[in-house]
Amino acid sequence: MLIRTVAVPPFFKNGYVVSCEATREGVLIDPGDEVGELLETARRDGTTITAILLTHAHLDHVTGVAAAKRALGVDVWLHRDDEFLYNGVVEQGMMFGLRVERQPKIDRYFEPGVPFTFGGCIADILHTPGHCPGGVCLAIGETGSAARDLFVGDTLFAGSIGRTDLPGGDTETLLRSIREVLFSFPDDSAVYSGHGPATTIGEEKRTNPFLT
Ligand SMILES: [Zn+2]
Ligand SMILES: [Zn+2]
Repeated sequence: MLIRTVAVPPFFKNGYVVSCEATREGVLIDPGDEVGELLETARRDGTTITAILLTHAHLDHVTGVAAAKRALGVDVWLHRDDEFLYNGVVEQGMMFGLRVERQPKIDRYFEPGVPFTFGGCIADILHTPGHCPGGVCLAIGETGSAARDLFVGDTLFAGSIGRTDLPGGDTETLLRSIREVLFSFPDDSAVYSGHGPATTIGEEKRTNPFLT
């Protein structure tokens, strides 16, 4: 599995291209303002992107969806419970004093428990509300292996957790999602967050001040 990360100002939100090394099929996760660099990285790697997967629909995670959809023509996936945020992206931008283009419609809704596959890779969809109602984490690995890398959006960060003061956020729900869903993965599972450096489940269990 090949993982590429790009983050740019003003939000320094991590966008990801995750691809299967054998088939060079991949997915684009949370394209924001760094979408141009992500697409260029995929092109250099020879990756064919087969889907745009959104961990949630906050502004910083979706501002590149329109450009990605224009370039790739593939389906955009989101959890249904975040569609109200997605449809309000222009208004989210106004809260930050930013002009944001309206994004193309969602093509497919995640169904937790129904995995998504690309090449020789599989993404299990985990509904992890709390930061927002339709937040999901993607547990991605190779078919036939139990090992999973976790793409957690803004649910969990190295040393911190997602904010819960935005519409639909709830701290107790978030902590439950992290403890019951994410912490059920082995300690050595890599965690790729929506902001900041990567970490592991074991490291967060041991040192995250919100969870110890
Ligand atoms: Zn967020
Ligand atoms: Zn974010």
